[in-house]
Amino acid sequence: MYLFGRKTDGNGTMKPLLGGKGANLAEMCRIGLPVPPGFTITTEVCTYYYASKRTYPAALRGQMEAGVASIEQQTGKKFGDLKNPLLVSVRSGARDSMPGMMDTILNLGLNDQTVEALARKTDNPRFAWDCYRRFVQMYGDVVLGVQKRPDEDHEPFETVIEQLKHDRYHQAVEDTKLTVDDLRELVVRFKALVKERAGKQFPDSPWDQLMGAVGAVFGSWMNDRAIVYRRKYNIPSEWGTAVNVQAMVYGNTGDQSGSGVAFTRNPANGEKEFYGEFLINAQGEDVVAGVRTPEPVSELKKQMPKAFAELERIRQTLEKHFKDVQDFEFTIEDGVVYMLQTRNGKRTAMAALKFSIDMFREKLIDWKTAVMRNPADQLEQLLAPVFDTAEVAKAKAIATGLPAGPGAASGQIYLNADRAVTAAEKGQKVLLVRIETSPEDLRGMIAAEGILTARGGVSSHAALVARQMGKVCVCGAAGIEVDYQARTVKVDGKTFKEGDWMSIDGTAGKVYAGQVKTAPSEIVAGLLQNDEAAKKTEKFRNFQQLMKWCSDASRMSVRTNADTPEQTENAVAFGAVGIGLTRTEHMCFEGDRIDAMREMILAETVEERKAALAKLLPYQREDFAGIFRALKGYPATIRFLDPPLHEFLPHTKQQQEELAKKIGVPAARIHQRVEQLHEFNPMLGFRGCRLGIGYPEISEMQARAVFEAAAQVQKEGIKVRPEVMIPLVAFKKELDLQIEVVHQAARAVQKETGVKLTYMVGTMIEIPRGALTADEIAQSAEFFSFGTNDLTQTGLGMSRDDSGSFLPHYQELEIVKKNPFATIDATGVGQLVDIAVRKGRSSRPNIKLGICGEHGGDPSSIQFFEKVGLDYVSCSPYRVPVARLAAAQAALQTKAGD
Ligand code: ADP
Ligand code: MG
Ligand code: MG
Repeated sequence: MYLFGRKTDGNGTMKPLLGGKGANLAEMCRIGLPVPPGFTITTEVCTYYYASKRTYPAALRGQMEAGVASIEQQTGKKFGDLKNPLLVSVRSGARDSMPGMMDTILNLGLNDQTVEALARKTDNPRFAWDCYRRFVQMYGDVVLGVQKRPDEDHEPFETVIEQLKHDRYHQAVEDTKLTVDDLRELVVRFKALVKERAGKQFPDSPWDQLMGAVGAVFGSWMNDRAIVYRRKYNIPSEWGTAVNVQAMVYGNTGDQSGSGVAFTRNPANGEKEFYGEFLINAQGEDVVAGVRTPEPVSELKKQMPKAFAELERIRQTLEKHFKDVQDFEFTIEDGVVYMLQTRNGKRTAMAALKFSIDMFREKLIDWKTAVMRNPADQLEQLLAPVFDTAEVAKAKAIATGLPAGPGAASGQIYLNADRAVTAAEKGQKVLLVRIETSPEDLRGMIAAEGILTARGGVSSHAALVARQMGKVCVCGAAGIEVDYQARTVKVDGKTFKEGDWMSIDGTAGKVYAGQVKTAPSEIVAGLLQNDEAAKKTEKFRNFQQLMKWCSDASRMSVRTNADTPEQTENAVAFGAVGIGLTRTEHMCFEGDRIDAMREMILAETVEERKAALAKLLPYQREDFAGIFRALKGYPATIRFLDPPLHEFLPHTKQQQEELAKKIGVPAARIHQRVEQLHEFNPMLGFRGCRLGIGYPEISEMQARAVFEAAAQVQKEGIKVRPEVMIPLVAFKKELDLQIEVVHQAARAVQKETGVKLTYMVGTMIEIPRGALTADEIAQSAEFFSFGTNDLTQTGLGMSRDDSGSFLPHYQELEIVKKNPFATIDATGVGQLVDIAVRKGRSSRPNIKLGICGEHGGDPSSIQFFEKVGLDYVSCSPYRVPVARLAAAQAALQTKAGD
């Protein structure tokens, strides 16, 4: 148990132990910000709680009593007192903030007696009863589990409130208009609801309430929505949550009070402006829940100028101290500002970029920190399309809301998370439309292209999640009328049914009917289309600055996986410095080539096969020449034919007959060959270098195509650096046989053309035996490229294409923490990479090492590849910026760790 307040035990660096909230409450106390006193129960207690069948350590109660005594002493109030009762909040706080996942209980300590004491003490019965009804509501929900049932669209407590308003006023009235008598009645009805739904009496003793609340906070660590969230963000369940118990300050005492949430800068677009919102005469939960639509903080300037000035001062202090944009929660009680939370603000990729560059210019951070401030896995957001300006000019906005998540999204609307998920699973583009969202909607939000809400401000749940997940979001679009029952959205005199199309512009906060056409982002337009206007935008210039820093910081370079000149050009524009993988088989499918390929496969003699291959050669040569030109002197790793041959043959009877006619081979012969090539385990069958060993003439043709193209392009004055890659090598001898074929072709072409070529021959390390015997293989291989897709499949004995039937369950059970086909299994498959790196270097110290599997574009895998010391990673063209950023961050982190 750690105190904060007049005496503060912890500090901001203790997040693992105190949770993010607790550690920063302590830190704020240390720098003299006004924080109500309290104490933090550590995450270790949570771990103990789950390890010990949900019981507490014996010493806990005593420590909590000491903690409460300390708060009593500092506030002059007493817990459960009948004169001046102390009320506390019980707040969860995990290491990383998990917005909306954990539940907070306010005004704890109230019962039928203390509420009267509070009313007398403050001379404000309305306030006291408002606190009480809030407390019963929150406690009933969070601790006693009185929650919305699957068939209900509204929270049961809200339904009781609506009913009361209806009974007494026959219309909707604002909560702030309810009288003391209304509130008394609400408490009675709430308690009856609790009794009915939870089957037990509401606890009266403050200590019973407190212990129950602490248990509920720990319990909520394992609730469904927390689990879903942790899975999405890969937060280990072992971390646990802390619990903060803190003296209440009251934002609901009248119109000189209120609660708010603010950012020190705009987290949606990055502008340097005080950004946030508040509600007069409200407790904090109202702001976050998005039940009432709050006012922007700038309004406070008029309504409470002194409090606003204090907040401005706090805003400056926070940024100077934390040196990052802060997201903070405050309450004003009778004109006095209190700080209740601060954390590094979640931000969109666009804001992250602007924050980092601006703060570097303001000398708050150095350039390396600026690089680290851009989340690599969010960077792709900056490349996402925006609405085409011409199209937007034509379209008429049918509603306007807050621009909470920048970008453009069009989709078919769904009003409920489950239906949104189902539609998305069917391949539809979905727009989730809700009055407001809550954590139960998370799955639907993940599935949707964009989120549109009718109510709630910039700190509503929808906006929060949008910021974090990079979803396009417009919230608080008051003009739309969402009817959950009828499943319709009425707006601007039109009615939209589920399945109808709508578009939202999360940068401008506009809503459009139908599908609005999109255009490439400024960065794509500037880099790939040389659009001069785009290049002048701040977004483009900031992006280029970031990429330049990335090059300065990185040790590894970034290449691309590309099969065409166009892909290559794009990747080079994004900053790739070579090709890490060209898959030659993709080139065999287009147009007439596939016929030549099939003739080759159907050939019965070597001569026939060579004749067919001769037809393919010019095609391949042209492809390679195009790629070499696009590379402008950068190296290209070209992988020889890899897939099993039957993949190139038609499988249905009709297709076989058509092919027979076309190439003049009997259909029966085709059918027979297909049968003959059939394999039980194609992934482990006649493929990779096994093909080139079985049919050396295939490799010979491919080598010729590579070198003839190289000679041709080199004659044009462009440097060419081919790196021939033999796939699926497990034995040194396999490689040696293929290398000989390659060298022979190279010698022949150089002689014929008189051009001297610089080239390398190497291999892909993608089966365990290859990795384990890398020292032998490196005697022949001039480079290794880790094919981590196959290395994962063979290393885990798990077929990627078949893993859908069991892998999700494995992730749920945390047998695997992440999908190993997306993020490298560092402890297992990673060892194979590590062994191969060390063994490879032991026999060829300057061997070139790269990775070309899907993992080459995944930030956490890139971090691993930095650690094992690869020379480059390779990924698809649009992932190149992400990989550059991740490589830079990995290098900076590794250096910092030295
Ligand atoms: P979350 O993690 O969901 O943000 P918090 O623990 O921060 O939950 O609580 C939500 C809100 O409850 C806070 O923003 C604040 O407005 C209010 N709150 C929490 N503790 C107190 C307190 N001691 N006094 C007044 N308001 C509080
Ligand atoms: Mg909360
Ligand atoms: Mg909070």
